[in-house]
Amino acid sequence: MSACIFCKIIKGEIPSFKLIETKFSYSFLDIQPTAEAHCLVIPKHHGAKLHNIPDEYLADILPVVKKLTKVLELDVNNTPEGEGYNVLQNNGRIAHQEVDHVHFHLIPKKDSKTGLGVEWPAQETNFEKLGQLHKQLQSRLAEYDEKL
Ligand code: AMP
Ligand code: ZN
Repeated sequence: MSACIFCKIIKGEIPSFKLIETKFSYSFLDIQPTAEAHCLVIPKHHGAKLHNIPDEYLADILPVVKKLTKVLELDVNNTPEGEGYNVLQNNGRIAHQEVDHVHFHLIPKKDSKTGLGVEWPAQETNFEKLGQLHKQLQSRLAEYDEKL
């Protein structure tokens, strides 16, 4: 995709603060960080949403994210509140996606003021409703697997 800003970053046509690059993935610092060392990991395959990306690219991404957590020392529990991080991947404008090339955010969470804030509107449900939904989904899953 010639107009895609992240494809241009992968090709080196626009600058980025590159971190890890593999055959399938590219990672770099976010230019509008929500916390220090907020970074992005992207597949070297253009696709707007997660379901557009071939499995071999997706399979490469989480190990890269994991390596970055260690490089950024997010695995070290050395703050009073405890060191944490969020891995975020938005799909669609309504889900806060601004760049239409799949990207995984790795966002350090060191205090309550920086990093990701999460709204979690828990919906009312019960075991009966969940059970009905589960049945529907099981049959859809079976249909999906038959088509493969
Ligand atoms: P999202 O809202 O999930 O689509 O996030 C897009 C992210 O890409 C934002 O956090 C931006 O700050 C980041 N971003 C946009 N352009 C660039 C760029 N040229 N280099 C680094 N990060 C970028
Ligand atoms: Zn792209």
